[in-house]
Amino acid sequence: MAFKRTNNYNDFIQNEIATLEKDNLYRRLKIVSVEKKRGTSRVDGTEQIINLCSNDYLGLSQNKEILTKTILSLKQISQCSSRLIAGNDPNIIALEEKLAEHREVECSLVYPTGYMANLGVITTLADKFTTVLSDELNHASIIDGCRLSGANIKVFRHNDMEHLLKLIKMISSERKKIIVTEGVFSMDGDISNLRQICNIAKEYNAITLVDDAHGDFIFGDSSPLSSRFSGVPSYLRVNDEVDVQTSSLSKGLGCFGGYVASTSQIRELLINKSRQFIYTSALPEHLCVSALTAYPIAKAGNRQEKLFENLNYMFKNLLQLGFKLESKSSRSQIIPVVIGDEKIAIEFSKQLLDKGIFVQAIRYPTVKKGSARLRISVTALHNNSQLAYAIDSLESIGKKLVII
Ligand code: PMP
Repeated sequence: MAFKRTNNYNDFIQNEIATLEKDNLYRRLKIVSVEKKRGTSRVDGTEQIINLCSNDYLGLSQNKEILTKTILSLKQISQCSSRLIAGNDPNIIALEEKLAEHREVECSLVYPTGYMANLGVITTLADKFTTVLSDELNHASIIDGCRLSGANIKVFRHNDMEHLLKLIKMISSERKKIIVTEGVFSMDGDISNLRQICNIAKEYNAITLVDDAHGDFIFGDSSPLSSRFSGVPSYLRVNDEVDVQTSSLSKGLGCFGGYVASTSQIRELLINKSRQFIYTSALPEHLCVSALTAYPIAKAGNRQEKLFENLNYMFKNLLQLGFKLESKSSRSQIIPVVIGDEKIAIEFSKQLLDKGIFVQAIRYPTVKKGSARLRISVTALHNNSQLAYAIDSLESIGKKLVII
């Protein structure tokens, strides 16, 4: 339906939509209802199908113990207030203490989402006197945070340390510098060159900020219990050298919310200056209870074992079939099958859906134009026969569409 008033905007809106359709970049919402059967969903009214695009990597979002404790904790739907007014429930504080312990840092601050955590910390730390050096594949929330901060933005080629070095050398030593990267890259599934980034940051006096939404609770140093699966900085043994870490609770932990982990001073500054913290309602307390209940279950480690078994199986088979993956060695639970052409990627995804497999075609602006891909994410819930069936289906459609 068009605007009721007579004005010129209807044409503008229609043209925008038509352009997206012409470029195969039009997005349509699918209706996805999650089923009780592990690892499956109904998509647009289909039968139960295998969901290979969820970020519930450890399968905790449907865990009975977490669901029960969450339901029992329900006293109100929402605190109906921001944290600085009347919304600061004790469960949020308890969760922040747990997350700081998990990340082995002084403090953490919970935000309603990971998106807001990135916006919040970047806009608080960066200003017009700052240059942010940002990996070209960084998530939209990082890009938006950088833009909103008014900082000068320099984008370095993905994981390319020579390029980062070249750019940082050109920045005046007077300027504040922040290097921003992801732990596990959300659309390529590879891991940041964090050790080199930390070395460069040290040499050029830059702050390091890592968004570890996809590495959190999946990767980690396996030694002391409290640091198990605490993410990529600990996996790469540079936890003490990273200044700020951000993450989402709606991936490895299977819950909802986001957080910043850093020093007590940064927490204090965020509480006082971050508009994304101050001017929004608190994360509801029952979601903090979910995360607190999920925490020891995620830390136990058995789910990660199954996850890595599953991702190695998928990776090996996709590679053997001749699909173009971003790398020849398996790196994480995110496995992008690069198709290139947007239209073919959409068709591939559609044919997979017809066979009972849900994989989204990821296109521009999430990835570069002409690098559309099927972003396959495996979880600890998938069983061997589901994955074998997925591989058979990918093979037959891949051959039909002449991708392999
Ligand atoms: N960072 C990365 C790398 C992400 O992939 C996402 C979500 N896709 C976010 C941040 C935002 O997290 P949330 O969904 O909790 O807002």
